[in-house]
Amino acid sequence: EKFNIAIDGPAGAGKSTIARLVAGALGFVYVDTGAMYRAVTWKILQENLPAEATADMIALTSRTEIRLVPGENGQTVYVDGLDVTGMIRSAEVTGNVSRIASVAEIRSILTAKQKEMAAGKGVVMDGRDIGSHVLPDAEVKIFLTASVRIRAERRFKEICDTQTEMTLEQLELDIARRDRMDEQREASPLVKAADAVLMDTTDMTIPEVVERILELCQS
Ligand code: C5P
Repeated sequence: EKFNIAIDGPAGAGKSTIARLVAGALGFVYVDTGAMYRAVTWKILQENLPAEATADMIALTSRTEIRLVPGENGQTVYVDGLDVTGMIRSAEVTGNVSRIASVAEIRSILTAKQKEMAAGKGVVMDGRDIGSHVLPDAEVKIFLTASVRIRAERRFKEICDTQTEMTLEQLELDIARRDRMDEQREASPLVKAADAVLMDTTDMTIPEVVERILELCQS
């Protein structure tokens, strides 16, 4: 039987790792909505749109084709047919994504796509507003958190291999700044849905979190 799982939470809480493992265990499709906001941000930066050109950003978003293709090593992200999977993780995209994700019209374009992707059921979707806004009827809703420090440390380890100029302290500041912007924006802010299960993963291992979510799926 197929159903949908919404996983939300702040940056670096482990959403993508956990969501991918849960999807694998259930044979569901993993949808990383953050990658969609990153893809749009990459495109806007590519076109050199100035920060105040909101109308141009919205127009660009509506004519850009974003495709998420699930595969063995996670999903591949395409923007108008170009593989941008690596490029959307750059410090430049990360530094600009929350600003662009605060534009209400850009959110509604991406939200419509996300609803479509989940329509057949059997998705594990991670983001900031999935349980509260994109899939309010998702059968299972999880809100993952952890202390800012531990989230920065996890991100630091994650991007160490893909070489970065960022120190742990810079990462911690960047995460705190993004959280604030995500929580404070007007259109579908980062918030725990009333019916989501809160899981603080500061002292939990990845397998423990996955196990707990799979248990929730059975009840
Ligand atoms: O999950 P990730 O860190 O890749 O997301 C990048 C950014 O995209 C977030 O900081 C947030 O600003 C935005 N986002 C969002 N709504 C979502 C997913 C991501 O606003 N559902």
